[in-house]
Amino acid sequence: MKLGALILSPSHLAQIYAHVEAGKPHEACGLLGGREGRVEKVYLTENAAHSPVRYFVAPGQLIDVLIDIEERGWDLVGIFHSHPAGPPVPSATDVAEAFYPEAAYIICAPDGHGRWQARAFTISQGSVTELSVQIES
Ligand SMILES: [Zn+2]
Repeated sequence: MKLGALILSPSHLAQIYAHVEAGKPHEACGLLGGREGRVEKVYLTENAAHSPVRYFVAPGQLIDVLIDIEERGWDLVGIFHSHPAGPPVPSATDVAEAFYPEAAYIICAPDGHGRWQARAFTISQGSVTELSVQIES
């Protein structure tokens, strides 16, 4: 199933922004569970790389989240991480290490005023396509 857009609630976005803000100056990461591009739950995970330029979802947490998503009958809708110093697009490493072609990759980066913004992409076999991000209650 190809994603057309990523749909989040304002509270999902607030959880993501609080997590990436708390993680500065390192990248922060997490996972999104839901159905057909619509997020039902935000899973905040540890960046096991503890790096300002790399992220690696802590493996034990990744497994726990994937089991929870499976048990709820959801899909892994998205994977988010921050680029605290920008840019708001996937890095070459992000593209090379994108193992979930069905999921949206969300990059959170500061805008020109230092406020977090989120952009979403699908990454499949090295090809990056931007998705629209829709905020709906
Ligand atoms: Zn990245």
